Amino acid sequence: TDALDRLRRLIRDIPDFPKPGIQFRDITPLLADPSGLALAVELLANPYRGKYIDLVVGAESRGFIFGTAVACCLSAGFGLVRKPGKLPYKKIAKTYDLEYGTDTLEMHADGVIEGQRVLIVDDLLATGGTMTACIDLVKSLGGEVVGVAVLIELLGLNGRDKLDVPDVHSVLTYE
Ligand code: IMP
Repeated sequence: TDALDRLRRLIRDIPDFPKPGIQFRDITPLLADPSGLALAVELLANPYRGKYIDLVVGAESRGFIFGTAVACCLSAGFGLVRKPGKLPYKKIAKTYDLEYGTDTLEMHADGVIEGQRVLIVDDLLATGGTMTACIDLVKSLGGEVVGVAVLIELLGLNGRDKLDVPDVHSVLTYE
């Protein structure tokens, strides 16, 4: 559609970032565009309107940007997933595999209340490692993951196949 083409034009391709051979999808032009930003947030949130989402969860840093905006759209709260050592209160951690080595993400122990209906939001789904860690954190606190919404899905990496959730929604896909 025209709307999706408009969004696609606001995503900048950066070759060889952060490493040679990687094509980075840079969403900062989209964030800077008033109607592009509003459209992106609306298209992320739309499938979850009326689905009784209590809490949107997002990982730093771009998951914070879109996640908080989507939370406002859905009249939900927002829960933070952060890199190690940033959260001040009692917390839980999940370590996951990267191409080289591992990474860890953390959440406050009261960041999700048992039984809450949770939507997890991020800018981009690649291998699904980050999203899987977020899903595990939410589930281990007793949250019900209703779905996952990302602005961009990189299809070649089959990230969505790893995600044990009822619904994976992406606004734009790239081969
Ligand atoms: P994954 O864990 O491999 O699925 O990678 C997804 C995470 O890495 C997301 O939190 C993204 O913000 C980030 N990421 C990976 N590739 C890109 C990219 O091309 N553009 C922007 N963010 C990316």
